[in-house]
Amino acid sequence: MPSIRAVVTDLDNTLYPWVDYVVPSLEAMVDSLETTTGLPRIRIVQSLKAVYSKFGSNEYPFAIQESELFKPYERDFDSFNALVIDPARKAFKSARDRYLHPYPGVKETLQALMDRGLKLVALTDAPRNAAEGRLRTLKLDTLFHAVYTLPAYPLPDNVDPEIRRKEEAGHYRAGVPVVELPADHEKPSPAGLRRILGDLGLTGEQVLYVGDNVKKDMPVAQACGALGVWAEYGTYVSKEYRDRLQVISAGEVTRRHVADATPTRWPLAISSFTQVLDVLDGSRWTRPAARRGAVRARPTRRR
Ligand SMILES: [Mg+2]
Repeated sequence: MPSIRAVVTDLDNTLYPWVDYVVPSLEAMVDSLETTTGLPRIRIVQSLKAVYSKFGSNEYPFAIQESELFKPYERDFDSFNALVIDPARKAFKSARDRYLHPYPGVKETLQALMDRGLKLVALTDAPRNAAEGRLRTLKLDTLFHAVYTLPAYPLPDNVDPEIRRKEEAGHYRAGVPVVELPADHEKPSPAGLRRILGDLGLTGEQVLYVGDNVKKDMPVAQACGALGVWAEYGTYVSKEYRDRLQVISAGEVTRRHVADATPTRWPLAISSFTQVLDVLDGSRWTRPAARRGAVRARPTRRR
C-alpha cells in the first residue's frame, strides 16, 4: 500500500453530530419567534423551510428577515431586529452552544494526524459561511491545512449594520485557508476531492478519505482511488430526531447533511473517529492482554 500523505474528511456527522445540535437549535428559534410574534407555529415553520430550501442550508442565519411571513415587520427594521430577530438568534445560539460538540476524541485525533506530518483537509457540502462558523465555534478550524466548501450565502439587504461591519472586516472567517467550490461539486461528484488532490499534488492512493454517508462520501473516495473509511457512527441518528428534523428542515437540505437510513454498507467502517489512526497503522483487532489480577472465571464443577 502506498503511504498515506493526507487525510481528507467530511464534517457533518463525521466530526460532530450535526443532527444533535441542529434539531434543538432550530426548535428553540421557532419557540422564540412564536413568543415574540404570536404567529402560529405552522406558519413560522413553513415560511422558514421555504427560505432554507432557497439557500440550501437550514443554518442560513438570515432566514427570518428573508421569509415572506415577516415582511410586514421589516418596514421598521430597528424594532423588528430588537424585538424579533435578536431574541431568535440568541435562542438558536444558546442551544447551539449547549449541543454542538465534536465526537469524543476528534480534536486529539486531528492533532495526532497533524503531528504525524499528514496534510489535513475538510471537504463539506455545507455553504462556506456555515462551515466556517461551525469549525470556529468548535475550535477545530486551526487543526486543518485547508477547508473546501460549497459557495457561501450572501448577506441580505436588510441586516443588522453591526453584522455587515463584522462580515466585511472578516470577523466570521475561520483561521484556515478556505476554498469555495462551485455548486456542481457537491458530493457524490468526485470533483471536490480531485481539486484537493491537484492542490496538494497527491494521487488518490496517497489519501485516506473519511465520511459518514455511504452514498455520497464513499463514491467520492472510490472514484479518486482514495482509501475510503466509512464513519458508520455518524449514521446512528434516532428515529425521534429524524422525525423532528423532518418537521423543521427542508428535505433537500436534510439529505445534504444526514445519510438516509440505508442497508448499504461499506467494508471499511469505523465506530469512532479515533480509529482513523488505527486504519493508518494498518492494525487488525487483537484480543487485549489479560490484566494481572483480573477476575478469572471459576472452573465449573462436574456433576
Ligand atoms: Mg456528513
